[in-house]
Amino acid sequence: MNESPYPLIAIQEAWRRIADALSPLAPRRLSLDDALGCVLAEDVTAEEDLPPFPASAMDGYAVVGGDPARTLRVVGELHAGSGEQLVVTTGQAARIMTGASLPRGADAVIPVEQTESLGDQVRLLTPVSAGQHVRPAGQDAARGDVLLDRGLALGAPEIGLLAALGRLEVLVHPRPRVAILATGDELIPPGGHLGPGQIRDSNSLALTAAVRAAGFSPISLGIVPDVKERLRDAILEGVANADMLLTSGGVSMGNRDYVKPLLAELGTVHFGRVATKPGKPLTFAHVKGVPVFGLPGFPVSSLVSFENFVRPALRLLAGHRRLWRPEVTALLAHDVAHAPDRTDFQRATLHRRDGRLWATTTGSQSSSRLKSLVGADALLRLLPSPETLKAGEAVDAILIGLPEGREEVIHAG
Ligand code: AMP
Ligand code: MG
Repeated sequence: MNESPYPLIAIQEAWRRIADALSPLAPRRLSLDDALGCVLAEDVTAEEDLPPFPASAMDGYAVVGGDPARTLRVVGELHAGSGEQLVVTTGQAARIMTGASLPRGADAVIPVEQTESLGDQVRLLTPVSAGQHVRPAGQDAARGDVLLDRGLALGAPEIGLLAALGRLEVLVHPRPRVAILATGDELIPPGGHLGPGQIRDSNSLALTAAVRAAGFSPISLGIVPDVKERLRDAILEGVANADMLLTSGGVSMGNRDYVKPLLAELGTVHFGRVATKPGKPLTFAHVKGVPVFGLPGFPVSSLVSFENFVRPALRLLAGHRRLWRPEVTALLAHDVAHAPDRTDFQRATLHRRDGRLWATTTGSQSSSRLKSLVGADALLRLLPSPETLKAGEAVDAILIGLPEGREEVIHAG
C-alpha cells in the first residue's frame, strides 16, 4: 500500500510540537505610530506625574477653599496652557478654564454655573471646600508607577498613555512577517484568462487577508508551478525574507506534491499529518531557522488550518499570552453527520433562541467550498465518533469572528 511516511498525529500533539519549536520574536523599538497591536516587551514606568501640575477640572474660578467671603475680587484669568503665574489669597479669585494650572494660593475651583459675575468681582452661590474640582499633580499617574506591564497588547488607550508620558518609541515584539506561496501547475492569478484545466489562485489572497486580519504582515510570493527546482528556490526565498513561510497545495500523495520532500531535504519536518478534517495533510517544518506551514491546497482546508494552527503560532511569535479564540458551548440546531476518525471542524452560524445558543452548519462542508466559511460565526469542534450527532446535542464552538479572550462579551448578548 502507498502510505504516507508521516504518522497521523492528534491535534494536541501537533500543537505541542509547534509550541515547542517556537518562541516570541526578539523585541525591537517601534515608534508609537507603528506599534498598534504589538505586545509590550518592557514594563512602562511613569517618569513624571500626570497631570504634571494641579489642574482645574472645570471652567470657573480658582479660590482658596473654605474662604468665608462670598464676594471675591477677580485678580486675573487663566487659560489651559497659558503658563501665567498668578497668586490668589483669601478674598480673591482667578477666572480659570479646564486644564489650566491652578494659581499659587488657590486649592479649589467653583464652576462658573455656581457664580454670579459682578464686573471685577464674583459672587459665590455655594460654599467651596479645598480640593473641589482640582486634579492634583500625579492624580492620573504618579512618577514611579508601573503603568503598563510587559506582555500587554497595545491598543488605543495604551498608545495614548505612552504618548502622554512623552514616549516616542516602545519596546515590543515585532509583528511577524509572513511569506505566502501558492503551488500548483493549474493555478493562474485571479486577473488572468482561464485556459483548459486551469483555476484561479484564491489561496494567496485569502491567506494574505487572514494574516492581515490577525494583525500581522503578509508578503505574497505568488504562484510556483509543481516543478521541484522552482519550488526549492521559492521556499528558500520565502524563509530568507520572513519570520514564517506559508505554502498552499502540494502536500498530499500526488506524484507532483513536492512540498513535504523539499521541506525534509532543506530542513526538519516536525509533523506531516494531523487527525483533523479538513486539514489532514497539514505539515509543519523549520527551514534555516524559520517555521514553515505546508497548508493543504483546498481553499477551506488551508483557511481552517490557518485558523487552528497558524494563527495561534503567529500570536506566539508576536509574544501574545492569549493565543486562542474564545469558545462557547452551542446546541446543534439539526442532526450533524461528521468524520468518525478525525476531529471535524464544521462551519456554522450561531443564533440565540430561548436563552440558548444554537448552531446551524453552513450547508455542504466540502473542503473546496469556500462558501461554507462565508459568514460563519464558529468552527464546531466535533470529536471523532461513529454516530451522527443529534439535534440538541451540546458542542464546542470556536468563535472565529471575535478577537481573543473576552468570552463574556457574547454571553452578555
Ligand atoms: P493539492 O493539495 O495541491 O493537491 O490541491 C488540492 C486542491 O486544491 C486541488 O483541487 C487544487 O486545484 C486546489 N488548490 C490548490 N492550490 C490552490 C489555490 N492556491 N487556490 C485555489 N485552489 C487551490
Ligand atoms: Mg497541487
